[in-house]
Amino acid sequence: MQKILEKHWHHLPEEEILEILESDVRKGLDTFELEERQRFFGANRLTEKKGKSPLLLFLLQFHQPLIYILLVATLVTALLHEWVDSAVIFSVVLVNAVIGYIQESRALKAIQALVQMSSVEATVIRSGEKKRVDAAELVPGDIVKLHSGDKVPADLRLLQSKTLQINESALTGESVPVEKEASVLEHDTMLADRHNMAYSTSLVTYGSGIGIVVSTGDSTEIGRINELIAEADILATPLTKKINHFSKILLWVILLLAGMTFLVGFLRGEPAVEMFMASVALAVGAIPEGLPAAMTITLAIGVGRLAKRNSIVRKLPAVETLGSTTVICSDKTGTLTQNEMTVKEIFAGGRLYSVAGVGYLPEGDIFYQERQVDIERENVLAECLKAGVLCNDARLSESEEQWTIEGDPTEGALLVSALKAGFGFKQMSEALTHRDTIEFESQYQYMATLYENSDDATHIIYLKGSVESILARCHSALNESGTAMPIDVDVIMYEVTQMAKRGLRVLAFARKSVEKTASITHENVASQLEFLGLQAMMDPPREEVIKAIANCHNAGIQVQMITGDHNVTAMAIAKQIGIERRGERKMIMNGKEIAALSDAELIDAVNHIMVYARVAPDQKLRLVKALQEKGHVVAMTGDGVNDAPALHQANIGVAMGITGTEVAKEAADMVLVDDNFSTIEAAVEEGRGVFDNLIKFITWTLPTNVGEGLVILVAIFMGAVLPILPVQILWINMTTAVLLGLMLAFEPKEPGIMSRRPRDPKMPILTRQLILRILVVGVLLLIGSFGAFTWVQYEGGTIEQARTVAVNIFVFGEMFYLFNCRSLTHSMFHLGLLSNWLLLLGVAGMSLLQLLMTYAPFMNMVFYTAPIGMKEWGVILGISLVIYLVVEVEKMVYLYLKR
Ligand code: ADP
Ligand code: MG
Repeated sequence: MQKILEKHWHHLPEEEILEILESDVRKGLDTFELEERQRFFGANRLTEKKGKSPLLLFLLQFHQPLIYILLVATLVTALLHEWVDSAVIFSVVLVNAVIGYIQESRALKAIQALVQMSSVEATVIRSGEKKRVDAAELVPGDIVKLHSGDKVPADLRLLQSKTLQINESALTGESVPVEKEASVLEHDTMLADRHNMAYSTSLVTYGSGIGIVVSTGDSTEIGRINELIAEADILATPLTKKINHFSKILLWVILLLAGMTFLVGFLRGEPAVEMFMASVALAVGAIPEGLPAAMTITLAIGVGRLAKRNSIVRKLPAVETLGSTTVICSDKTGTLTQNEMTVKEIFAGGRLYSVAGVGYLPEGDIFYQERQVDIERENVLAECLKAGVLCNDARLSESEEQWTIEGDPTEGALLVSALKAGFGFKQMSEALTHRDTIEFESQYQYMATLYENSDDATHIIYLKGSVESILARCHSALNESGTAMPIDVDVIMYEVTQMAKRGLRVLAFARKSVEKTASITHENVASQLEFLGLQAMMDPPREEVIKAIANCHNAGIQVQMITGDHNVTAMAIAKQIGIERRGERKMIMNGKEIAALSDAELIDAVNHIMVYARVAPDQKLRLVKALQEKGHVVAMTGDGVNDAPALHQANIGVAMGITGTEVAKEAADMVLVDDNFSTIEAAVEEGRGVFDNLIKFITWTLPTNVGEGLVILVAIFMGAVLPILPVQILWINMTTAVLLGLMLAFEPKEPGIMSRRPRDPKMPILTRQLILRILVVGVLLLIGSFGAFTWVQYEGGTIEQARTVAVNIFVFGEMFYLFNCRSLTHSMFHLGLLSNWLLLLGVAGMSLLQLLMTYAPFMNMVFYTAPIGMKEWGVILGISLVIYLVVEVEKMVYLYLKR
């Protein structure tokens, strides 16, 4: 099989290719051959490019200005033979690197796992049958069907094509889709011009085709240039970028301050080494070094939570943006409704029939005026049902008493209704030879098929589609006895409206005899059709959607329905699921009306509209833009190729996991595993929670930095002894960040999180209230520790004891303040004391460490601490409690003022 590997496939004629690859266009490979080839060629997967090696990732943890300072400090203390200090500082550096490494690699893993979850499927022909398989199973020689919306699963040589267009930007950088055609090309044709080839990972944007796999996995063209997206980008969001920027500025400001401190002390005649250590302490204390890592972790945890609730985040910023969503534009069919269609009513030959039964089980009779019909005597009804079967791409199958469909549920329902009358797909399609198909596309709203007629002189076209699209093409209709009469549109439209008012989705059917021809185009069916009838199907709303929509409204989020379906049907469903608004302005608009509005008029109208009916997919882009122009943060769903631009433009593009095309998923920020609207609502909720936790961490961590920085600054500028030593500051920062601060990332969502307004994305990260809180807590820590430090010495304690008290005030102050930070607006009792048990565990661990630090002789030696008495503990806990209470009172005042 080696001979397969290097060929100029574009230059070879079809027969030769099939011979070399020992395959057959109609049958594909058989199972035996397949297994052998799979063994030989391996999985059709790109070998994962190694990211940063673990060693490099570890070493990079040392590449931070702060760490450089600490390394210098290690060196300086070693030179001074201060071995204990030197060792402590160095171990802090090490521990810091290890923790950073673990956090970063875990976050990376979480995100990589998500990338792998989105696997690609392919349609192949094997042993003569059409199948959907995991693209990883493809081997050279496999026959693959391509359809608009697909991702090309391997390198293919095209054997057939129909108006096929493929976007190859991943390969060639050219963003305009190229037209593809099966043919033979010159030997030296450049890659970008090989229009008889379809390359792996490129996207089919139009038409369809059949190709044979010529290379898989790493031997594909994309495999040769396989580049992974830069990891740094994967982990960045607007917020983390802002924080990183902020941290960098802060870093330089503090380093400058530290330098000045050194200078001031030195000029005052203090010993240089001591001053150096003091400025190191200042730098270590004031720089919020844990901030970026905590952000990443919190986001990674958020991504995991979203995945648990069926949303796969494709682009990390979405996690953040979700919380700001102000309007969700959702497709109706399948997202708001169950996409389980059942034909309930049929209108044919002037008669209105009703159909019994639900779901895909083909049991249930057809009634006319309460009486069961004899299908032998209902010619027009029979023809209408047959049209539904012959103009159909879906398949109905039974396994273990379960009837399931493969394909479009709308079409599946038509197979079921026909089978109820005894018309099976097999017998129908065997009676007539199929010639050609115009597949359903939302913008045309109909599908057509061409068959050889039984009389052999003519061919027949069957059409089905939306009422408007079919009626516009009909000039006659069959009457009761099956004779063609001039069509009476008013009568039909009356029936349509009645059906639609009951929330039914109406499809119209027609046929046309034509001269023998091999293929059909849109022109062939532009007029002169014979109307056969209507089939109206029920697609019940999803139960859970009603609640989800109510929740959205409560959360200040508008829900707008977008559908290709009829106005009246759409309104009926909208009422059922609670997308309604009281007011004078009209709340529904259809595609024609949208097209008639200028951009400015659309912007003005868009806020009041709740339902868009008969919308063409390319109008979604205008809607998103208009809503954004109105200041909205828009989440928009989509599944087809034509939805991609709108998904891209939306603040949160949401693709369907089940029915969505690869093109839509590629353009989306988020994929719904279950295609369910209520999953979007859940995602918004999680997004709000994640954002809360980010802010909570920032609010918690900054006061320590303010406090510690001030303690050192004040001490030096006043010429006093340091109340907290550099190694002690290191200790505080290392332990509290991990045992206390990080636990905020596990905070559950606050009750009432879905009864607030969406967060304004233009709002600063920290409100004035929070900045004030940070400063107040920072100053309280400063006064508390300085005051207690002085008091202990006044009471006759040693300086070691005084410092131990000061350190404990910082740690316990932060611990109490941690409970404040569990909610930014309410008290922790509002959340339930035990709702974050990890946090309680952290608090317990931290307390234990402090006891060790205070009482264990070894720790006393390393950190220059000393045992203290009950009175001192009383002071420590008292001051911490004061901090807690001050913040709680501030919250209450704020809540009161806001009311
Ligand atoms: P939606 O998915 O929002 O309901 P579509 O764009 O899929 O809207 O469908 C628009 C209209 O086209 C439907 O109301 C129906 O009349 C018609 N239609 C839908 N699916 C098919 C199909 N497979 N074949 C023919 N017509 C269809
Ligand atoms: Mg649809």
